[in-house]
Amino acid sequence: MEQKKLSVEAIEHGTVIDHIPAGLGLSILRQFKLLHYGNAVTVGFNLPSRTQGSKDIIKIKNVLFSEQDANRLALFAPEAVVNQIRDFNVVGKMRLRLPDTISEVFRCPNTNCASHGEPVSSRFYVRVQGRQTKLKCHYCEKTFAREAVAEA
Ligand SMILES: [Zn+2]
Repeated sequence: MEQKKLSVEAIEHGTVIDHIPAGLGLSILRQFKLLHYGNAVTVGFNLPSRTQGSKDIIKIKNVLFSEQDANRLALFAPEAVVNQIRDFNVVGKMRLRLPDTISEVFRCPNTNCASHGEPVSSRFYVRVQGRQTKLKCHYCEKTFAREAVAEA
């Protein structure tokens, strides 16, 4: 187990997003603008995972995720684990809780939706039905499965 951890360089302070489903790492890098901080970012793709088969992992030096970031992450990778690192040790794990609403991140799939023609940000209400995350558009009031809604 220790050896697997060492396959990606350890960081002294910062955030490690672990257990990202393989293939989602890049889209999380982009969506959270993790390269915009100017801090060192180490990414591992398709690393072996005991529970997931393979996973992606992202380590960001000197950046701490806010609770809002963690909740937004829940929309992309609910199974991800956000570790807070200090002095090379994990000092905390953030719980990912789905936010009640999400703005700007997604585009409404309804082509007739008012959010497309207007200079407004998209806005969705988030709810969970069974094991499915659903997004309800604030403008056209239609409900979509999370997977059916593309990133803006
Ligand atoms: Zn809509």
